Amino acid sequence: MPPVSPAREILRRLHDVMASSTSAQAKLNAVVAIVAEQLDSEVASIYLLRDGVLELYATRGLSQAAVHVTRLAMGEGLTGVIAATREPLNLAEARAHPDFAYKPETGEEIFHSFAGVPIVRREASVGVLCVQHADPREYAEIEIEVLQTVAMVLAELIAGAGLIDDVAAAKARSAASGPARLAGLKLVDGLGRGTAVFHQPRVVIEHTVADDVEVERARVYGAFVKMREQIDGMMGQVEFLGGGDTSDVLETYKMFAYDEGWSRRINEAIDSGLTAEAAIDRVQQRTRARMRSIADPYLRERLTDLDDLSNRLIRIVSGQLGSAAQSGLRGDTILLARNLGPAELLEYDRRVLKGVVLEEGSLTAHVTIVARAMGIPVVGRVRDLRTTITDGDELLVDGSAGTVLVRPSAEMLKSFATTSALKAKRQAEYARLRDLPAVTKDGTRVALMMNAGLRDDAAALDATNADGIGLFRTEFQFLVSATLPRRERQTSLYKAVLDAAGDRPVVFRTVDIGGDKAVPYMRDDAHEDENPAMGWRALRLALGRSGLMKVQARALLEAGAGRTLNIMFPMVSEPWEFDAAKALVEAQREWLVKSGRSLPAQVRYGAMLEVPALAECLDVLLPKVDFVSIGTNDLTQFLFAADRANPKLADRYDWLSPAILRFLRRVAAACTAANVPVTVCGEMGGRPLEALALMAIGIERLSITPAAIGPIKAMIRSVDLAPVRAAMAGWLEVGAPTIRADLTALADNSGVARG
Ligand code: PEP
Ligand code: MG
Repeated sequence: MPPVSPAREILRRLHDVMASSTSAQAKLNAVVAIVAEQLDSEVASIYLLRDGVLELYATRGLSQAAVHVTRLAMGEGLTGVIAATREPLNLAEARAHPDFAYKPETGEEIFHSFAGVPIVRREASVGVLCVQHADPREYAEIEIEVLQTVAMVLAELIAGAGLIDDVAAAKARSAASGPARLAGLKLVDGLGRGTAVFHQPRVVIEHTVADDVEVERARVYGAFVKMREQIDGMMGQVEFLGGGDTSDVLETYKMFAYDEGWSRRINEAIDSGLTAEAAIDRVQQRTRARMRSIADPYLRERLTDLDDLSNRLIRIVSGQLGSAAQSGLRGDTILLARNLGPAELLEYDRRVLKGVVLEEGSLTAHVTIVARAMGIPVVGRVRDLRTTITDGDELLVDGSAGTVLVRPSAEMLKSFATTSALKAKRQAEYARLRDLPAVTKDGTRVALMMNAGLRDDAAALDATNADGIGLFRTEFQFLVSATLPRRERQTSLYKAVLDAAGDRPVVFRTVDIGGDKAVPYMRDDAHEDENPAMGWRALRLALGRSGLMKVQARALLEAGAGRTLNIMFPMVSEPWEFDAAKALVEAQREWLVKSGRSLPAQVRYGAMLEVPALAECLDVLLPKVDFVSIGTNDLTQFLFAADRANPKLADRYDWLSPAILRFLRRVAAACTAANVPVTVCGEMGGRPLEALALMAIGIERLSITPAAIGPIKAMIRSVDLAPVRAAMAGWLEVGAPTIRADLTALADNSGVARG
């Protein structure tokens, strides 16, 4: 066995080649000479992808007449297999491999052993580097690693020389990797087709060979320090949330972040002459290759965690910190992420964002609500995103089925088109209901309003013919801004919405930030909420930072001049909070009166009931308010003590459980007795069966996502409510965990349209 040349020597020589001012071809020729010599091989060759085909670009040891003549398709021959699979091959006897393809012009019949590695850029094969030897021997693992290191440098060299066709490479890779079907949790209905874009893009490594090893060591050291700080910070935030999947992931992150072995291997790679980025990537590739053979799903998941962490480290070290939103989307896109905050989602251009796929996610997390408001289908809890999908893959997302089709086959595309046509047909049926009232067969008229939060949402009022906007989430404007929106901007938004609504009522909810709707400029650095959902959020924050609330009150009052203005406060827990918030708005009104400004003709004040404590004080609250709106998203999480954003609890408790329905029935009855209109504005009301249950317990006003107006109206118009009411009364006496099965059976037996 020949002596193994250290990577350091090769990198030193490659550094000189890269720095030389010769042509790209001369550089490639120099590289094959160095590789052949250092790996003691008779042959070293470089194939590059050109027009979708692998072409021999440089060789030491094969016939020079074959250069630019020998060509192999992706998947053809050993070289083609390496490029297609992006996996190295190491064979003592090349001819014994079923994919061996003989190319006479190369004169390679005299060689036995063969080893090759892919040259990869932007996760696509752009070429292959291989060595051959006359004796039948397997190359040592360390030699394969040296080849992989050289392949990294080659990727940089050929990209710099303009020899890489990125688009062709991505296409070739997709074609080679075949279709796949991933299943997850249905979060937002709808179909979407587009190109895969990861929210956190992989960093493109521009420089692989170090000029100064000490500088690279210092860079990687600094990046480790920063990354550990970030992980520790994140751990602190989730520690008291009960954590769920997030804290499992962070535990693993922490384990890797402090793993001495990992940082030592990166430092060794730097010692051999790689830049910090290239060293991290090199070690990552090695770990991935080792772990790929592991079947245990738990360990495979950890591989994804390590992948995430490596990516984070490379982003820190290279300073490429932005998300895909910063670089802009190029065409119809399906966005992929482990998880997203609502503000992060809002950074994307909604015109081209056709779907979102998350590894985590839950039904009432705000990112889901925002996506629903934007009409973007979402599938959550999809595993193995990074290992199955790469940037640029074509994806079909079906939010109603909870599936993601990756690199779809012709068959898949056909059935997707059929589903789309069916959906369109159903939409057309809903559109026909547009001008018909939402009234049950036995005469109960239900007020159907829509939820909104973005300026463009108001357009949905006309499209759906909703009875008004029952919940305008004013915080969306705060989430999309990098800084606190100024009063003029707030006024202009509210006015535009009121103008679009015309005579239809609009209920503005004052800002509900905090919780999972964190905004960077409103952080309280002195005190980080350990449990943000139950922390300093919504009305609590607004009363605490009354300057913010005053500005918003002024903006609302000015926008509502001459009309009826409906203001609603979120997260009212006790009646005095409602009093305090109302007094704050009233003080602004008085100020406007004094300064002679025009005012709303009427201001109506409402409270959101989403904290169970308020239900105990309805006798005190109801005489003070003009209306009540029940936020079932928060109410459910507090009633069940189950974090609405925790994916592990996402399907644990049912909205159709007697606990919730009895609670809501009691609230509805108290409001009705006090003659105070009561609406449900949580996601629950947008689902046909749940909406039916709400109607059966006395709720006759719903504010729901615009896309649900059609299906809910169809349900309402198809139902005789009296028998459902009677049945419901009985079910709620029996303490079954859920009435879903009973209600479904009743609905189906009596021909209720369930969407
Ligand atoms: C709710 O909690 O049900 C609600 C409508 O408000 P949000 O989802 O914005 O918290
Ligand atoms: Mg809420």
